[in-house]
Amino acid sequence: MRPFAYTRPVSLGEARQAVADNGARLIAGGTNLVDLMKLQVETPGELADINRIGFAGIDSLENGGLSIGALATNTQAAVHERVRSDYPVLARAILAGATQQLRNKATTGGNLCQRTRCYYFTNIDQPCNKRDPGSGCGAIDGIAKLHAILGTSEQCIATYPGDMAVALSALDAQVDIAASDGSSRTVPVRDFHCLPGDTPWIENVLEAGEVITAVTLPPPVGGTQIYRKVRERSSYAFALVSIAAIIEMKDGVFSRADLAFGGIAHKPWHDPRIAELLIGSAPSTHLFDKAADVLLEGAKGFGENDFKIPLARRTLHAVLEQATQVTA
Ligand code: SF4
Repeated sequence: MRPFAYTRPVSLGEARQAVADNGARLIAGGTNLVDLMKLQVETPGELADINRIGFAGIDSLENGGLSIGALATNTQAAVHERVRSDYPVLARAILAGATQQLRNKATTGGNLCQRTRCYYFTNIDQPCNKRDPGSGCGAIDGIAKLHAILGTSEQCIATYPGDMAVALSALDAQVDIAASDGSSRTVPVRDFHCLPGDTPWIENVLEAGEVITAVTLPPPVGGTQIYRKVRERSSYAFALVSIAAIIEMKDGVFSRADLAFGGIAHKPWHDPRIAELLIGSAPSTHLFDKAADVLLEGAKGFGENDFKIPLARRTLHAVLEQATQVTA
């Protein structure tokens, strides 16, 4: 690890100043950034520790929704009474990620911004367009088991590795962002992360100097809430395929079908056409197959990850069967 300065701003203004004046990287839990610094993938000259600037509360909103501060830890969010009762899909997704020790340190904002675990990205001796633009993509013709099948580009086929954001996408949560000029804006989680395109190093819509302050959940959505994560070992592994689902049935047909997918793209994947297909229809294996056809239209494997295409289909079937009690 290279030497770096360490500062502790006590306000958002001070944190922004450290970024503007010294090019500081903000650090909260550090559960991803410090690992990348040890590998010299990230080599900041200064770390500005933002744990003292606030934004750690979890508060009910007037409209019945819930605001989770960017510095609330993953553990605090997962065990919060309202998250457990009103947004169980979120609690389950958080608890499916990492380990208890990591969740005790990792924060809501940091979790959203975590970087891919592509083996070539984390090895500075390997080509990687995300880490070193123009150097090539080692994964496309290499080890690609964890990699994407949807939304890929010729520059990058990495996946977004998180679980929490997949549930937030299904919930249609919003990301509250403070801008460097003192203004603020809100971005739907579904639009927060980017596809790789020709600029795989741009992973989300945060502009220079912007800071996530909170994630806002809508009023309770009810329904059957499921988070299913398929991985190589149940103790601690990134998703091969995951699905967050909020399903409601009325008079024997789908009245709500909010689904988001992890492990298959550079961002939590949400395809509104799946809800359009399901809502108003009675559950059947034929319908579930059609939903999988919609999801996987354009899916492309890269050898080692070809298995994700049938795995995503089977996992979607399993989730819809669990939610509707309709089995093949
Ligand atoms: Fe780098 Fe993306 Fe290729 Fe991985 S998939 S080597 S992160 S460019």
